[in-house]
Amino acid sequence: MEVTNRLWARGFWRAGIRPGDTVMQAFGLSMFLAGVPIVRALESMGVRVIPCGAEAGSERLLKLIWWTRPRALLCTPSYAEYLIDVAPKILGKDVGDLGIEIICCAGEPGAGLPELRRKIEESYGARLYDMLGGAHGILNISCDAPEYQGMHVLGDDFSISYDLVDPETKAPIPLVDGAIGERVKTSLEWEAQPPVRYSVGDIYQIFTEPCMCGQPGPRIKVLGRIDDLLIVKGVKVYPAAVKNVIESFAPRTTGELRIVLNEPGPRVSPPLKLRVEYRSGLEKDAVEMLRQDLIEALHRRLRVRPKVDMVPEGTFERTRHKTKLIEYHPE
Ligand SMILES: [Zn+2]
Repeated sequence: MEVTNRLWARGFWRAGIRPGDTVMQAFGLSMFLAGVPIVRALESMGVRVIPCGAEAGSERLLKLIWWTRPRALLCTPSYAEYLIDVAPKILGKDVGDLGIEIICCAGEPGAGLPELRRKIEESYGARLYDMLGGAHGILNISCDAPEYQGMHVLGDDFSISYDLVDPETKAPIPLVDGAIGERVKTSLEWEAQPPVRYSVGDIYQIFTEPCMCGQPGPRIKVLGRIDDLLIVKGVKVYPAAVKNVIESFAPRTTGELRIVLNEPGPRVSPPLKLRVEYRSGLEKDAVEMLRQDLIEALHRRLRVRPKVDMVPEGTFERTRHKTKLIEYHPE
């Protein structure tokens, strides 16, 4: 409990939460890692927590926010996005009128996705932080850099949480800047169920170069799950890493894409087939230039030369939850 309290406090401190602040806890409270343990950690750092919980429903939550005026909101990114739509109906006010300055998200990807990130920050007029961890002496939080730089690793004194192995051979992967692999974690200060080089099947990318925000230490990005792994001519390709490259071409791309498989993975007969959305308004020549730029960038950064089909903006269904990047079309 002591380790958890100290770790969460470090994370919340980095997000700018201070003793005396009022904070709305809108993660699920019931039997959830980010529920009561967060309430306890915030109280231990002298924060006034409103332990409303996501279970209370958005009407009760929004009214409590209006009455108590918290400085920070803690919830999943999809809940933060949902409140943007329902606040005007329930309170007759936009979320931007609620006075929230800090939003800490966890529990699912989203706070690291550029479009959702921009939407939440602009709608609330708040800074958004992406958090991950909480158990086993591990916690990671994103920083104030203008573009998402992954999450800074906190708690080197409690755990080793950025150790990587090859997902197939389990051989260690050197921790150079940009290294990608299956993450294994080891707790140094966790007495209940201590993990030692334990994997839950997550694929991480590690960054060891100094972050533009000035904070020291490694950063991690979560790229997906081992089950997502594809192998093209012996080269390991993670769908989320492909998505990162496509997103880096925004606004020319919308960031949306699908990987088309004709047979079950992980082995893919080359070329890897991609369908990528281009932003509407782009001329035919510009779309072709974008297509070639994408192939070049994917070859340079991921060592695959895919076949890319460009499709217009809006082709792919948008979901609030984790999008399936892979389309399966048996031939
Ligand atoms: Zn940083």
